[in-house]
Amino acid sequence: MATRPKKMTASEWARAAAAAREQVTGHCAVCGAEFTGTKKRAYCSQRCAMSVYRQRHRTELAAKRREYYARQKAAVAPAVGAA
Ligand SMILES: [Zn+2]
Repeated sequence: MATRPKKMTASEWARAAAAAREQVTGHCAVCGAEFTGTKKRAYCSQRCAMSVYRQRHRTELAAKRREYYARQKAAVAPAVGAA
């Protein structure tokens, strides 16, 4: 395997490596749209990948949001309801 030239960032290097890999045509697991990418690719876009992530981490994300909301509420109006 070749080593990364110093002028390239790791991201640029990874992109170049992905571009050199075999490209296949597949269908998105969420919306069914056709896309071209490397073999591991499962979704057509970041949007579809995120929707799957949100579905998979549903309870965890909801708990975080509730916690954030409670903290915001306490910071904005700490006296409300206390009187
Ligand atoms: Zn899609």
